[in-house]
Order: sequence, then C-alpha cells, then structure tokens
Amino acid sequence: MDFERFKKTQSRVLKLIENSFNKNRLVHAYLFEGAKGTLKIEAAYYLASLLMCTGENKPCMECTECKRILSGEHPRIYYVEASGDSIRKDQIDDLIFEFSRKGLESGTRVFIIKDIDKATPSAANSLLKFIEETKEGIYGIMTTENLAGVLSTIISRSQVVSFFKVKEEDLINEYQSNGVDLETSRVLSTITNDTLEGMALYNEGTVQEIMKLVKACNKAICDEDSPYLAFYENAKVLMDDWNNKKLHQMFLDLLIVITNDRIYKTLGQDERIIFCDEINDYDDNSDYHKIFRQVETMVSFKQRLRYNINLETMYVEMFIEVSK
Ligand SMILES: [Zn+2]
Repeated sequence: MDFERFKKTQSRVLKLIENSFNKNRLVHAYLFEGAKGTLKIEAAYYLASLLMCTGENKPCMECTECKRILSGEHPRIYYVEASGDSIRKDQIDDLIFEFSRKGLESGTRVFIIKDIDKATPSAANSLLKFIEETKEGIYGIMTTENLAGVLSTIISRSQVVSFFKVKEEDLINEYQSNGVDLETSRVLSTITNDTLEGMALYNEGTVQEIMKLVKACNKAICDEDSPYLAFYENAKVLMDDWNNKKLHQMFLDLLIVITNDRIYKTLGQDERIIFCDEINDYDDNSDYHKIFRQVETMVSFKQRLRYNINLETMYVEMFIEVSK
C-alpha cells in the first residue's frame, strides 16, 4: 500500500477524509469515484487505517493494526473485486454472511469493493439492502472509474468523493525524469494517472510494443493500405496474451488517440498531438470529417470489448469500416 503517493497526489481527498474522521463525521458508505490510477483503493485502505489504528497519531503505521493493513492481511477488512467481467451476487452474499457472523476479533470492520459499477443488478440490490441496514462499527468503501455505470440508489445512499487526475504535464515530467522519451511519456500520460503503473508498462516494454502496432495500423489507414494486414503483422504483443482485454483496450484507446492526433494536425493544433514523433508524417490537408468518422467507428467498436465477443471478427469488421 503506497500511502505516501496517495497523500502527495490527492491532498484534497486526504483533507476531507481526515477532517471527517477528526470531527467524528464519517458516514458508513463511501463511493470513491475518479479516473484509473487516482489511487482510490489506497485511499480506501488509508481510511481503514484511520478507523483501526490504535496509535497516538492516527494512522501511525507502526501499531499492529496499521502493520496488518500495510501487509494487506487485516482480518477485519473484506475486499471484493470483479471476478471476470462482473461482481456477482454470490460474492456480495459471501460478504454479507461474513459481516453477519460474530468475528473472532471485535472492533471496527471495513469492506472495500473495487469497481462497484461492475456489480450485476442482483448483486447491487443485495448490497443496497445491506448498506441500508449497516450497523455501528461497519464501514463500506466502494470505488468506481465509471460513476455513470453505478446504480443511482447506491450513489444516493453513499457519500460520493471525487478523485481528480494528476495534471498531464506533471505526469509527463515525471516519466521524463525517469528516462522515458517525450513521445512515450505523453502516451503513458493518456493511459494511466498512476506513474508506477505507467513505469511498469514501460519497463516490460508493453507500451512500446502497442505503440508500434498503433503506428503501423495508423500508417496503413493514412496510406489507404490494408490496416487489417498491418495489424496482423504487428500484433504479437496482443497475440501472446489474446484474452487479456486490458491490452485490447489499451490498443484501441491509443488507436483513437493517434487518430485524434490527425484531427489536431488538420486543425493546426500541433501542441495537442500525443504521438509527437509522427507529427511530420501527418497530412494537414486530410479530410477532417473522414477522420472524425474513423474515430467514431473505433469508439463504437471499443465499446464491444465489454461483451463476450470474438475479437478477431471485431477487428476485421472495424478495419473494414474504418477503411471505407
Ligand atoms: Zn496505527
């Protein structure tokens, strides 16, 4: 648990949590919402440490309770995340069962649910009932990157706390000071708000491989060659782990980013271009409307990733549509 990074990058949230705790105004259900990489889970564990710490200056990070939280092994913290694409009802039922029993240890108990928007309707409804009946000493913290996808009744019964993104230029500067080139730094700043995660993608070479693939597809689209062929010739990074949807998501996100770059080029807004090494290859006389339609196509195909689909068919269809 990296509390230092949370404290450094989310000082507004930190203040809110600490003030509520100090004034005894904590509520029993929180919904932490914000972009990927805004350290919402770290904040959830930080709040749990405040509640459970037995030291003087809470959270002290030195008492047994704090140490158990830091090691991720606190018996009175119950953590739930999506298994596969969703949070199922039986996962919520297990949580409720766990909290209905008298634990071996007495004291405050906390449940943390990551990506609550992924709960199935029946899971969300069970949870809702549980939240309404929550007893003294039980706190729930849910997180989401997609507030619009959360059941409105869950939102209305929770205190929503918004996590803001770190400024893009601060992210880019941090990557560059770690030795990452400017273009890759800019690309990473669009993928995640968490520089540790970004550096991991860089050190594994994943982001560089996906950028290579994105550039090859983009070039084929611009040259009116076959983007589908360019995709298959360069998609080793995806094929090695074909069922990993995060990689497909990253590929499609960056394909949209580079296509948007072409729009910025035609508009003369060069400073907004992310794939800045490609800048001179863009044609500033391209048809703005055509590129815009390509972006729309990519966005609509990207939404299909949420479902159980045949990815190969999806790419064939998408590239045919984009090439029209
Ligand atoms: Zn402590």
